[in-house]
Amino acid sequence: MKEQEKIESGLYLPMIEDFYTLQGEGFHTGKAAYFVRLGGCDIECDWCDTRISWDASTKDLTSIEDIVSKVAAAPAKAIVVTGGEPLLYNLSPLCDALNEESVETYLETSGAHDLTGEWDWICLSPKRNHPPLNDIFILANELKVIIANKDDFKWAEENAAKVDKTCHLFLQPEWSNFEEIMPVIVEYVLHNPKWQVSLQAHKFMRIP
Ligand code: SF4
Repeated sequence: MKEQEKIESGLYLPMIEDFYTLQGEGFHTGKAAYFVRLGGCDIECDWCDTRISWDASTKDLTSIEDIVSKVAAAPAKAIVVTGGEPLLYNLSPLCDALNEESVETYLETSGAHDLTGEWDWICLSPKRNHPPLNDIFILANELKVIIANKDDFKWAEENAAKVDKTCHLFLQPEWSNFEEIMPVIVEYVLHNPKWQVSLQAHKFMRIP
């Protein structure tokens, strides 16, 4: 199979990083999970802290069997698939294989591309540069909006208006602007308590 055919089949994915750690952000903060970072992203956030993920060609493709066997061997039996933007790829075969092994599946996505795969949990983190497609809003379990400046609150509310009422709402400070924006977020949540604060707790715990 050629590289492009392998990717289109969903049987191979451009995994650029994988590690067993604790979820650092959002609803599942503090829970152990196996992280799989897929390379490639067309969103280009100015403040991106995972630019190493933008180029998918830095590593050989990985078969989903290899991914599943690593995740299944981890004590937590839970996977977080992140990026980059993982929905650049067909994730249905990976999800099917993980579901067969009874692994809990968590997706982190901007929602800018069609959803593939059946997930136990979808964290939708919308980006202004490339807004989510409409279909994913109703499926999101968690909406996590990065706040870099005061204008981002309006963006957060526009997205919150589209998700299901059961969706958990999080505002997360943009890391490089933490000192300036954190007090503003605290004040906003005090006045708008449907939101909760999400911190990048892994950075405070000094874990990946
Ligand atoms: Fe970086 Fe994520 Fe934005 Fe892509 S979507 S540029 S990986 S922060």
